[in-house]
Amino acid sequence: MTQDKLIKELVRDGYLKSPSIIEAFKKINRADFVPESEGEMAYYNIPLPIGYNQTISQPLTVAFTLELLEPKKGEKILDIGAGSGWQTALLSELVGEEGKVIAIERIPELKNMAEKNVGKYGFAKKGIAEIILGDGSKGYPEEAPYDKIVAAAYVKKIPACWKEQLKIGGRIVAPVGEQMTVLDKTGPDKFEQKQYFAFLFVPLIEGEVGDKSS
Ligand code: SAM
Repeated sequence: MTQDKLIKELVRDGYLKSPSIIEAFKKINRADFVPESEGEMAYYNIPLPIGYNQTISQPLTVAFTLELLEPKKGEKILDIGAGSGWQTALLSELVGEEGKVIAIERIPELKNMAEKNVGKYGFAKKGIAEIILGDGSKGYPEEAPYDKIVAAAYVKKIPACWKEQLKIGGRIVAPVGEQMTVLDKTGPDKFEQKQYFAFLFVPLIEGEVGDKSS
């Protein structure tokens, strides 16, 4: 399997559509985000283990999520659950030098892994990406408001603080249970919601940062 084949499959199956997202998938090499032991599998359309009971997301899930999120140049995006840093790097490529991606990860070793992997593309040096160790269920008020908020782990309900930390006109894309949910903020306290078919995600863990028991 090659990167080119994977991207063609994602386009053929309708997961990748936008030229900017297809271009980002070409520039950000998934092999840079998987552990060496999984290297040969980097271009298969499957999630892969990255340690600490976590995975790098399945390519079709990331493609589907990004198409719903519609990241644009210059936007400020909160990326909850950095994991390997792959989606953080894709988002950084999409928002460009005028934009900002704040990624939160609760497991210190994965925060370091994401930082190292995203660092291969110089996004932190250019001030585009920042990886924070923390509990994303609380959002990240320090840098709010955001144009977009995206989560890579499912929640039972979209937390009120995510809605508060979103700009009017902004969008949240997050798995709620097994439904991929898009929430548009249309007024100070007004939201429009759409839900898409089932996906398998790991749960968003609330509480102590660094607790690896779950
Ligand atoms: N997009 C990432 C990737 O492709 O590598 C996804 C990684 S994984 C599917 C989801 C991540 O969410 C895991 O790294 C997990 O530790 C993290 N996570 C779970 N609960 C979290 C929380 N409350 N705050 C921050 N990160 C959390």
